[in-house]
Amino acid sequence: MKKTNEIWTIGSILKWTGQYFGEKGVENPRLDAEVLLSHILGMERIQLYVHFEQPLQQHELAEFRAAVKKRATRIPVAYITGCKEFMGLNFTVAPEVLIPRPDTEILVEASLERLNNIGQPHILDIGTGSGAIIISLLARLPAACGAAVDISDKALAVAGGNAAKHQVGDRLTLHRGDVYQPVAGQTYHAILSNPPYIPDSDIAGLAPEVRQEPLVALAGGQDGLSFYRRLIRDADEFLKPGGFIALEVGIHQACPVASLADALPQLKPEAVIKDYGGVERVVILRKSQE
Ligand code: GLN
Repeated sequence: MKKTNEIWTIGSILKWTGQYFGEKGVENPRLDAEVLLSHILGMERIQLYVHFEQPLQQHELAEFRAAVKKRATRIPVAYITGCKEFMGLNFTVAPEVLIPRPDTEILVEASLERLNNIGQPHILDIGTGSGAIIISLLARLPAACGAAVDISDKALAVAGGNAAKHQVGDRLTLHRGDVYQPVAGQTYHAILSNPPYIPDSDIAGLAPEVRQEPLVALAGGQDGLSFYRRLIRDADEFLKPGGFIALEVGIHQACPVASLADALPQLKPEAVIKDYGGVERVVILRKSQE
C-alpha cells in the first residue's frame, strides 16, 4: 500500500494486508484482512473470492487503509467494524462492551436446551454488556422474557440498540446496577452470566486486543472468582424452585466455581460443559424443587 497510484485489486490488497498484519503480530492476519475488506465493500467474505480481480475504488481504498492502520495498532476487528456475529445474529459492539466470543455460545446453547420445555421462561442476565447472551436467547424463545443488568450505562445503551435490532426489546428490561441489586424481589427460571473472571495478576499479560476491552468486563478480583462468590451466594433468592444458574468460567475455574455451592444445600452442580477447545467453560447449578 505504499504506492498511491497503483491499482489495487481485492486479491492483491488482501495478500499485501495479510502479510502486513502478520508482521504486526496479528493472530489471524489473512482472516482479519478479509473481514475488514468485506465489511467495507458490503460483501460476504466468500464474495471477495468471486471478485478477486476487481479493482478497488479510491474511496474504498481510503476507508480500507484507515481500517488497516487501526488493526495494525491491535485494535480488535470488531471495534473497527462495529459489529460481531454471535449465535448467527449480528450484534453491534463498541469499546464500552466486551466483544462476544464463540465460547460463550456454549452458555447460550446449554441454557436453551434447559429452557425449551418451559412455557414462558423468565431469564436474568447479569453483566449483559452487548446483550449478546440474553438477546440471542430471547430471539430463540419467542415466549420468554428477560432482564439484563449491567454496571455500565454505556453498555446498556449498546444492549438496548441490539435488543431493538433483533426485535426483542418489548420482552427485555434493562437495569443499571451491581449484580442482583436492581432486580431485588424478582425470581427467574434461569440466571446467566459471563462475569469478569480474569485474575488481577493476569490482566497485564493479556493480548493487546483484549487489553482494549473494558477492564470492568474482564477483571475478576485477586483470584478471578469475586463475581462467582456473589452470584452463587445469592442465586437461591433469585431463582424459582427448580431453576438454574449457568455461568461461563475461565480456564481451571470450573472446579472452584462449582464448589462454591458446597455450602448451599439448595443448589446442586448439574453440569460442567467444555468449549470447542476442550476447556471446561460453563458451570450449571440447579436449585432444588423444594
Ligand atoms: N473470555 C474473555 C477472555 O478470556 C474473558 C471474559 C470474561 O472475563 N468474562 O478474554
